[in-house]
Amino acid sequence: MISRRQWLLSPAAVLALRAEGKQSVRGRLRQAPALPPAILVRDGRAVELQADAPSTAVLRDPRLKDEDFEAVGRYRSPSLFVVDPIHERALFVWRGGKRLVVTYWCDVCSIRAWSPGKCQCCQEEMRVDLRDPSLGEMELR
Ligand SMILES: [Zn+2]
Repeated sequence: MISRRQWLLSPAAVLALRAEGKQSVRGRLRQAPALPPAILVRDGRAVELQADAPSTAVLRDPRLKDEDFEAVGRYRSPSLFVVDPIHERALFVWRGGKRLVVTYWCDVCSIRAWSPGKCQCCQEEMRVDLRDPSLGEMELR
């Protein structure tokens, strides 16, 4: 039997991902009060993002405004993109050529979350923690 990790690196996994129809959209994250969150792609078009509530909270987090942002999911039309659910970890920021997954972290309690808000333990606001997606969720780096 092969491990999940080996499988994920195999050509079969890449083909499976394509077969699932995973797509991504990358550009500047637009946050305008009266408009749905969107990504402004290279040619200047706005691609509206439709997402579940915890993912929408990330997309509306003012700390991420105008970031070089990527969402994974599927185009419903050329101007509407449906983001994968929050547990799929589908939201990324690009920094210095690196694709980093958006997470939230409480330094006091060492608790990680995937959507902004108060720490479930100490009730302090959690900070944005952009992470290398290859790291384990609870590794303290
Ligand atoms: Zn805390």
